[in-house]
Amino acid sequence: MSAAGQPLIGGIEAGGTKFVLAVGHSPTEIIARHEIPTLDPATTLKNVGDWFEGQGSISTLGIASFGPVELDRSSALWGHITNTPKPGWANCDLAGYFAKRFAVPIGFDTDVNGAALAEYEHGAGRAARSLAYITVGTGIGGGLVFRGKPAHGAAHAEMGHIFPRLHANDQEFKGICPHHGDCLEGLASGPAIMARWGASLSELPADHIAHEIIADYLAQLAHSLIAITAAEIIVFGGGVMSTDGLLERVSERTSELGARYFPGGTGHKILAPGLGHNAGLAGALMLAPSV
Ligand code: ZN
Repeated sequence: MSAAGQPLIGGIEAGGTKFVLAVGHSPTEIIARHEIPTLDPATTLKNVGDWFEGQGSISTLGIASFGPVELDRSSALWGHITNTPKPGWANCDLAGYFAKRFAVPIGFDTDVNGAALAEYEHGAGRAARSLAYITVGTGIGGGLVFRGKPAHGAAHAEMGHIFPRLHANDQEFKGICPHHGDCLEGLASGPAIMARWGASLSELPADHIAHEIIADYLAQLAHSLIAITAAEIIVFGGGVMSTDGLLERVSERTSELGARYFPGGTGHKILAPGLGHNAGLAGALMLAPSV
């Protein structure tokens, strides 16, 4: 409990390069925020726990994590990062560490489901019933929220690993996904752009074909989401999306892909995160169970 008697909520946005931490009285009322580099699991989790200890006594904790993760509450592996290729992190019991250390209720989901939840409730999706959040950076991932609930199934969504139709001017590149080669992440993530053109998208001139190619691939994901889920809002965030004009290109291309099929339009909107870079952290705080 904080001095004011309101429960203190803790949030962890667990990423492959850094952990972003916050405490607050609500997801949008952050009292303190901190970043910790992602080192080996033992060191990182200890550093995270030490920071929370210095903030007072948290009553509940939400974790939005990079994946893959186990989300099935009935599984013994719930709250674990599972088979990540990130050295040392496979089978890391993220939720278990904090449950043991702080003895508070813990909410756990993917980083993108957390961000989708925050955008749905407090950001770009406030007027909608369904929202997808896509991040395009070192990888590509997506989360989907329907009527306030993140979509879970047999596992969690892996939207970065769909197979787009190759662009006419991109027939040679084999893609960099270790599992699939030319899946969406293998074709359109930051490292895939770098592998193909030796520069980030924002470094390439505005008339470079890369802009059209990447926008086309991302629009194919947006089109698929609209076709499969009828999502009303699709939010695109992540480092690659800070490229000038990319969001507009994706939006235009998505409309083109659907124009001849969806009668009267799809009613969808493609937007930048309403919460900016804070979507993931706000999502983590939202995942904390109410106490
Ligand atoms: Zn893949």
